[in-house]
Amino acid sequence: MASLAERLAARIRQAGPLTVADYMAVCLGDPVDGYYRRADPFGRGGDFVTAPEISQIFGELIGAWCVAVWERSGAPARFVLAELGPGRGTLMADALRAARLRPAFLAAAEMHLVETSPVLRRAQEAALSGSGMTPVWHDDVSGLPAGPLIAIANEFFDTLPIHQHVRVDRGWAERMVGIDEGGRLVFALGPAIAVRPAGMDAVLAAAAAPGAVFERNPAAEAIVARLAGRVASEGGAVLAIDYGHGESGLGDTLQAVRAHAYADPLADPGSADLTAHVDFASLRRAAEEAGAAVAPLLAQGEFLRRLGLDERAAALARGKPAPLVAEIMAGAERLSGAQTMGTLFKVLAIGPRGLTLPAFDSPGSDAQDSGDG
Ligand code: SAH
Repeated sequence: MASLAERLAARIRQAGPLTVADYMAVCLGDPVDGYYRRADPFGRGGDFVTAPEISQIFGELIGAWCVAVWERSGAPARFVLAELGPGRGTLMADALRAARLRPAFLAAAEMHLVETSPVLRRAQEAALSGSGMTPVWHDDVSGLPAGPLIAIANEFFDTLPIHQHVRVDRGWAERMVGIDEGGRLVFALGPAIAVRPAGMDAVLAAAAAPGAVFERNPAAEAIVARLAGRVASEGGAVLAIDYGHGESGLGDTLQAVRAHAYADPLADPGSADLTAHVDFASLRRAAEEAGAAVAPLLAQGEFLRRLGLDERAAALARGKPAPLVAEIMAGAERLSGAQTMGTLFKVLAIGPRGLTLPAFDSPGSDAQDSGDG
């Protein structure tokens, strides 16, 4: 069978250039060659390492957060515990282990995982086999059953396809993926339109110089709106953790990562992870418009410290041999440090109006927006 690059070129020759969003969706989700369909990309031997794979403390603290949300929600006798894009299932396995302290929480939880990759579904099944819970898998959030919902998404929204719009002389043009005379994939521009892109505010549009890029993630906004509407009417909360910015801005953030290094997003499609920074301001708007309340964005480091990162690391290290102690401390530092993931990653929490969410109620510094868009 032809490579994904060849199939994409043939499709473009026949039907014209693809939007960046369509290109991203094919690269990540093509049933044969899509990045997430082919193999397990996580971990030290894979393309990148995510927070739950760095330290078990990440999932444990999120498990404690879920228990606290459940308690503050009146400890419903049945609720939906959902994770979007669970990867290897590590976060959920660690969260459930921590939640064993509250058997009533586990007894009330019905586990639902939103995952498109068959390879990763199998990894999740294996990771959760000892948890005593039987997960139900869904291709998208529309399949989640009714009832109070506690939903977690770590590095999920950054994989959803973005549209890019470029400021040109006569207005704005969508950035596309086309082919050159040699059949190689190249970036191109769609037809210029005089009006600014949907979802962009007038002040930002007025500030855009020629060549400036505006990104929009309608799929992420739609998922957040749906989950936010659920928790607004049925209770619970949504926790989304990702690399991104707190204010909508300008800038091209599409990036490809292969073997822990940046790669050309158009080279060898399907072989690298493609992501974009999450625009938390647009997700906040989507959640608020759906009737939910959104807590002030927190930096990941601050969020984890408020949940007891340092105490948990110390407890885990107690009595362990020195090399293991060093590893535990290094993991905690990597998750929370200002030079590592601590400020670049942000935590968005959505709940019903009037419910104060755990970790979002204590005083402290809010997320610093690095403005790096
Ligand atoms: N949360 C995990 C994995 C993050 S990678 C961790 O932190 O390690 C993104 C995850 O989202 C993968 O599990 C991937 O297969 C899944 N995914 C990507 N696009 C998806 C989509 N459109 N619908 C459902 N799952 C998707």
